Amino acid sequence: MKLKTITPLPSPSATSPVDSGNGKPFTETPIHSGLNPKCRSTVQLDPKSFSKLIKNIDTFIFDADGVLWLGESVMPGSPRLIDYLIKHNKQIIVLTNNATKSRALYAKKLAKLGYNPQKMNKHNLVNPAAVVADTIQRSGIDGKRVYLIGEQGLRDEMDELGIEYFGHGPENTVDEEGGAFMYDIKLEENVGAVVVGYEKHFDYSKMMKASNYLREDDVLFVATNEDETCPGPNPEVVIPDAGPIVAAIKCASGRDPLTVGKPCTPAFNYIKRKWNINPSRTMMIGDRTNTDVKFGRDHGMKTLLVLSGCHQVEDIVENQMNERDDMIPDFVAPCLGALVPEQPHQIYY
Ligand SMILES: [Mg+2]
Repeated sequence: MKLKTITPLPSPSATSPVDSGNGKPFTETPIHSGLNPKCRSTVQLDPKSFSKLIKNIDTFIFDADGVLWLGESVMPGSPRLIDYLIKHNKQIIVLTNNATKSRALYAKKLAKLGYNPQKMNKHNLVNPAAVVADTIQRSGIDGKRVYLIGEQGLRDEMDELGIEYFGHGPENTVDEEGGAFMYDIKLEENVGAVVVGYEKHFDYSKMMKASNYLREDDVLFVATNEDETCPGPNPEVVIPDAGPIVAAIKCASGRDPLTVGKPCTPAFNYIKRKWNINPSRTMMIGDRTNTDVKFGRDHGMKTLLVLSGCHQVEDIVENQMNERDDMIPDFVAPCLGALVPEQPHQIYY
């Protein structure tokens, strides 16, 4: 069995951030990977090796939560890395699995956090809300409406394409008759699709309505993403994402959705159509192995896991043990800020 040793993560003196930005300290212990010879090894990047690597990359696709920001705070060092890549004429795309806000609002957030507004704006952003709206528009449900479980981002993106929807927001269910409402469900006519994403008002009534609309085989079932959780500023608090909501409706309806977010192919097709990227000269950078890394690996891109969000080195090792080559990154780094050369104009040959 071939073992490859990943060198210790850079010391704070080698890079500006002292921690990875999510409250988890860097590990200084050597990390052993390559435990399974059937799986790839993961290479630790530092500013010098990253600088050499970017000669072979034209496009960088960044996840947002846990990479560019954490909650409402900027990830320390990330704007400098983005500026460094912009200086070297790299194409930047941000691909988040978060559909709660529209691309326009995420662009405002990026600018507020200090990212270059000329190069990091609505036109560089992709989120499942935009891909869902695009998917619905292209699906040919013309004249029919969407039953929506989702937040403002989905509404804004569907408004932009003139798609009619209903159902979002709190249900007006008063359970005065015990469970009687369950036998008297009122369904709307002319529904062409059920769209499901994260919604804070998700409840039993919404699950019931969605499942009943989906009894008709020709009603599309489209999901934003299936992330189980999303990262937040307090690593001790579990924050359920859209995944558990989608799972509930899958279970109740007996149907599988067309999921558009990472790691699924609709997001890739959307990006390929819009930017005509060459996957072999594209790097996907994210903080999750089962969405970001898998998305990159499944679609022929280079992959980099940063340890500033959800997944850590032990998750890479676990994926190796389980022979999940599709979830093992090519490269790993503590955070984006750890990859910025001391001289931002520097590139190594
Ligand atoms: Mg993330």
